[in-house]
Amino acid sequence: MLESAGFVNSFLITGGDGLSLVDTGPARSFEAMRTELRDNGFDLREVARVVVTHAHPDHAGGLSALEALSNPRIYAHPEDAGILTGEKDPYRFQGTKGSLLRLITEKAMSLGPVERVQPIEPGTPIRGLARWQVLHTPGHTPGSISLYEPAAQVLLCGDLLSNRGGRLHAPEATFNTDEATLRSSIETASALDTDILGCGHGPLVRGGAFRYIEAVLARRGKTA
Ligand SMILES: [Zn+2]
Ligand SMILES: [Zn+2]
Repeated sequence: MLESAGFVNSFLITGGDGLSLVDTGPARSFEAMRTELRDNGFDLREVARVVVTHAHPDHAGGLSALEALSNPRIYAHPEDAGILTGEKDPYRFQGTKGSLLRLITEKAMSLGPVERVQPIEPGTPIRGLARWQVLHTPGHTPGSISLYEPAAQVLLCGDLLSNRGGRLHAPEATFNTDEATLRSSIETASALDTDILGCGHGPLVRGGAFRYIEAVLARRGKTA
């Protein structure tokens, strides 16, 4: 897990066919991520592919700088891919809080367009990441995906769930495009044998992470 972006996590997968990144963090922390990789004995120029969990600028803002540096293959779900190439408008946060956040974050959170995005086919492994299953887990955005590695029981879920503050929860409605879809995606995730869960925000959930996912669903069930 890469933590140089502070409030948002990216993940480096080694041992496949070349280095793979899951998300890039925001544009403004690109150099910090480069340093973090170097401090751990890796070079950002060796990144062969990037898997984008969803097209929000805090997760994909570093893409254009990375494309210029190492020209990796960029993978995203077709529903979100158009935002990365600039063909589709970015998702808008909901409500008054959303409008306010938009004003504050617009400049700091750019999502520079990239040349080419390879569409992810859920259920079909990404070339060079054969051990990882690609799951379509929409609701936070229509094209949100998660990656699951069944041997080590690791789930990287992007913003399907957040562990910000060390308390696993669903992202607040302001940031989601569809609450009902989000719930069924969390149900999909809860059916997996997940030991370690890596969210887009907050620390890793280690040891029987599936129980924590089930608890999120149970809490949502009560409030619904
Ligand atoms: Zn997000
Ligand atoms: Zn996020």
